Amino acid sequence: MKTKLPVMKNQEVTATIQDLTYQGMGVAKIDDYPLFVENALPGEEVKLHVLKTNKNFGYAKVVEFLKKSPDRVEITGKEYTQTGIAPLQHLKYAAQLKFKKQQVENLLHKAHLNIPVGDVLGMENPYNYRNKAQVPVRLYQGELQTGFFRKNSHHFIPMTDSLIQAKKINEIIQKVQAILQEYGVEPYNEENQTGNLRNLMVRYGFYSQEVMVVLITKTKKIKNKLAIVEKIKATCPEVTSIIQNINPENTNVIMGDKTIVLAGRDVIYDSLNGLKFAISANSFYQVNPLQTEKLYQAVIEKAGLTGKETVIDAYCGIGTISLNLAKAAKKVYGVEIVPAAIADAKKNAELNHLDNVVFEVGKAEDQMAQWQAQGMHPDVIVVDPPRKGLDEQFITSAVKTEPKKIVYVSCNPATMVRDIQRFIDLGYQVEGEILPVDQFPQTPHVESVAVLVKS
Ligand code: SAH
Repeated sequence: MKTKLPVMKNQEVTATIQDLTYQGMGVAKIDDYPLFVENALPGEEVKLHVLKTNKNFGYAKVVEFLKKSPDRVEITGKEYTQTGIAPLQHLKYAAQLKFKKQQVENLLHKAHLNIPVGDVLGMENPYNYRNKAQVPVRLYQGELQTGFFRKNSHHFIPMTDSLIQAKKINEIIQKVQAILQEYGVEPYNEENQTGNLRNLMVRYGFYSQEVMVVLITKTKKIKNKLAIVEKIKATCPEVTSIIQNINPENTNVIMGDKTIVLAGRDVIYDSLNGLKFAISANSFYQVNPLQTEKLYQAVIEKAGLTGKETVIDAYCGIGTISLNLAKAAKKVYGVEIVPAAIADAKKNAELNHLDNVVFEVGKAEDQMAQWQAQGMHPDVIVVDPPRKGLDEQFITSAVKTEPKKIVYVSCNPATMVRDIQRFIDLGYQVEGEILPVDQFPQTPHVESVAVLVKS
């Protein structure tokens, strides 16, 4: 039987926003029926227009603000909210930090875990912090444009600026876009899969000031390739590496497997905490370098190394955490699934004259099981998994090696809390406060560090 909903599509209602979801949407409740609202903050009284109703929840947009929150920042461009690149830009930064701390606290509370959470380590200037941009290239009103997609859709919104990318990156994107347009490069068209240039990726070393430009195409052939490369070199002297990546698949995954160097080096260099890193196009590298330095310092401090320890760095990427640890440990073992990242990691160990590190390509869960089978007993295990968190096999193998300490770096508090619960079940306990570090200002993402020790 169909139950009647308290609101209908296209209806207008007045409501008070009661909550903010972890995705940054305001929540209004009409007789307990939740409506999710973009750009609306707790405590605000709003007149809403209902956009869509599902069985258990709906979506609405604000038609008029009747009372605004003292935590509101007047927004400069609604496209930052629409595209999801800066969905919290309408919330004051201090309130963003409070919101992130609460996220972690709420998840712990729901799991009945009584663990304290520290104040979020924030940024002094929480804008233009990203060292990497990946923007779709599309034909828009007859011109080659770069921009972003509207959240959960394929609707393209051309944009020349971004609140959170390094200004240098915005500048390079605009210059390269003009060159590509001038030489008649055909942007990719998703619907009929015609055209060639899919995405533009730009990486910027905050310390080195080197720039890498990656043209992600459907096919190998780029019209006027040589002339384009020469013009980019002439117009953007900061660009030390021009790369083509080929992705022939009809997919949402941005990068393909094949990478060709068109000019300059296959990597750019940057440093973190005084260590130098080579970063290739396909490798993961933390996007907020200033905060990453604080994050890594916290990891080093919490690892509490004296120079005698054997340490595992799982999900090590290009070895950034591993090398920081290697300076203070006897031996460090890193594991990572992307072969190009491990190639970078090995290069980086040499670059920094650190020879007490071993890097393995593989799934962390398989490699951990293998290390355990070989009888390894690490003193400390550092993990920094992707959003889905740790694999159960990783957790059980790690515990069997009886580390004194596990330092958990997480980009998703929901899976971190789930995994902490598992470690507790297996005889570990959280030491001290969980420390959130704001790696992603203006977005709802939360990064945290937790330390587990044997009970
Ligand atoms: N610690 C690194 C990287 C963290 S990001 C840094 O701070 O830069 C997470 C990394 O885990 C990525 O490099 C990703 O390629 C890798 N990864 C994802 N799934 C994996 C798995 N199952 N096993 C090992 N590495 C994995």
